[in-house]
Amino acid sequence: MCGIVGAVAQRDVAEILLEGLRRLEYRGYDSAGIAVTTPEGELKRLRRLGKVQELTDAVHSQPMAGGTGIAHTRWATHGEPSEANAHPHMSGSDIAVVHNGIIENHEALRESLKEAGYAFTSQTDTEVIAHLVDLELTRHDTLLSAVQATVKQLEGAYGTVVMDRRDPSRVVVARSGSPLVIGYGMGEHFIASDQLALLPVTRRFAFLEEGDVAEVTRFDVNIFDVNGDPVTRDVKESEVSHDAGDKGQYRHYMMKEIHEQPVALQRTLEGRIANGHVVASAFGENAEALLKDVKHVQIIACGTSYHAGLVARYWFEQWAGVSCNVEIASEFRYRRSHVFENSLLVTISQSGETADTLAALRLAKEMGYMASLTICNVPGSSLVRESDMAYMMKAGAEIGVASTKAFTVQLAGLLMLVGAIGRHNALDAQTEHALVSALQSLPAKLEQTLAMAEDIEALAEDFADKHHSLFLGRGEQSPIAMEGALKLKEISYIHAEAYAAGELKHGPLALIDAEMPVIVVAPNNELLEKLKSNVEEVRARGGLMYVFADTNAHFSSDDTMKVLNVPHCDEFIAPIVYTLPLQLLSYYVALIKGTDVDQPRNLAKSVTVE
Ligand code: GLU
Repeated sequence: MCGIVGAVAQRDVAEILLEGLRRLEYRGYDSAGIAVTTPEGELKRLRRLGKVQELTDAVHSQPMAGGTGIAHTRWATHGEPSEANAHPHMSGSDIAVVHNGIIENHEALRESLKEAGYAFTSQTDTEVIAHLVDLELTRHDTLLSAVQATVKQLEGAYGTVVMDRRDPSRVVVARSGSPLVIGYGMGEHFIASDQLALLPVTRRFAFLEEGDVAEVTRFDVNIFDVNGDPVTRDVKESEVSHDAGDKGQYRHYMMKEIHEQPVALQRTLEGRIANGHVVASAFGENAEALLKDVKHVQIIACGTSYHAGLVARYWFEQWAGVSCNVEIASEFRYRRSHVFENSLLVTISQSGETADTLAALRLAKEMGYMASLTICNVPGSSLVRESDMAYMMKAGAEIGVASTKAFTVQLAGLLMLVGAIGRHNALDAQTEHALVSALQSLPAKLEQTLAMAEDIEALAEDFADKHHSLFLGRGEQSPIAMEGALKLKEISYIHAEAYAAGELKHGPLALIDAEMPVIVVAPNNELLEKLKSNVEEVRARGGLMYVFADTNAHFSSDDTMKVLNVPHCDEFIAPIVYTLPLQLLSYYVALIKGTDVDQPRNLAKSVTVE
């Protein structure tokens, strides 16, 4: 969560830092701040409540010269969003700090720092870092060693950048639990919590590892590991496209990303299917050997990724013939669970930095799983580095906080995994061929499905005055109903619940009335008739329904039901195809409601806190 950008350069860096924040705003957006050491040797800081644009306007009215600076866009964990709680935090007039994460022992540190005479000006956990560095500088000669001594006292998660007004030639950065990258320029270096922030100035990056502390000057980057020993971290050329941070022709990133799905699916399939088979190396070099003995799959994820896992459970058990459990990472990590024999651990995370999922992976590695695999969109992220195998999604940067293309690409990756594991279990060659050709039909099918946008936009009007909604599905479409409900609540703030349609009569039917729209995702399989009975149950109680259904499902619109036909598709890929109309529905409802589509209230992307 939160965006960090830093620079040590000869040129003025305020604009670079602001552009970096703009590109990272999806990671947190309740307040923002910047600090730059001016040529006169002052540390100039500006902070604003609200979006990065507020800060940008402030900087433009009071320009800041200077080549060394740090900036931050916040997602509050400790202390309300306010100017006083916005980063950078300072100790006196010399030390400035930005921080991503949570310092768990901040209360104890705060008390001892107060005893040492430090006055606090914010409610944040972060401020203890600034004062600790200041205190340690009375015991150490260099900023580097003061930061090294400081981080030894911190418990929790942090990515932090520290600067000292008295020495603008350097900043010191430290990483534990929250990602940081160093960008390499010509006679200048940059720091960010995500490479996306720095693409306008460099394409060469080194990813810090857990426990690393680095001293960054214009000409050098000296990195030290958790033991304080000097280490080198590979500098790699980024493959992320420069315009990944732009909205292009679209009004919102979310709409851009919804429309990018055909291309994203094309890219994720490329080179991974050959002769009617899924190529096992799509999951990593040694995947063939590791996957062949899998008899059980344990999936761990959060939020939208968790819904992808729930769909995959149906697939693994139906097509691959292996058992599958799916669990929310924050539950898995705090409960005693049992490891089945020949069990593969699969984590799913767009960012590869989701704190709970990462912690669950670390725990699971001690529990005796035969191997771990991650489905992830960010190369070099913690989950990728720490798993035995990785399926790199290649979905392209996803900026909208509400996940869209990452979800459908995750599903495609999971379906490929079903192919790769299933072939050593219950999946016969003919079914594998059918699965693979269904996957190959996806890009075109999704393109066709996007043509529903206009009809869905018209329908969204009906939701303008609604406060509640119900989503229904059966079988592998029931997690799609859950994902549809999540999308609607995330961006339109309409309360939305999802149920497996067979559960209706066990409680939720009591809620049905004309004020409660019911959205139905109709499967195109043997469960269709069952679903039709559930639809009748709603109709009999005066409910208003919106049914997304295959033409062949023979639903027809009437007073109580609006039917939207979804292009006919193969059963394997139906959950992926039916996701799109639900994404579009939540988008258009949010537009009508006038909410902030890309940056919905209280949320942020890349959830790096517990
Ligand atoms: N815990 C810090 C705060 O509340 C940092 C939050 C963030 O990662 O944005 O200020």
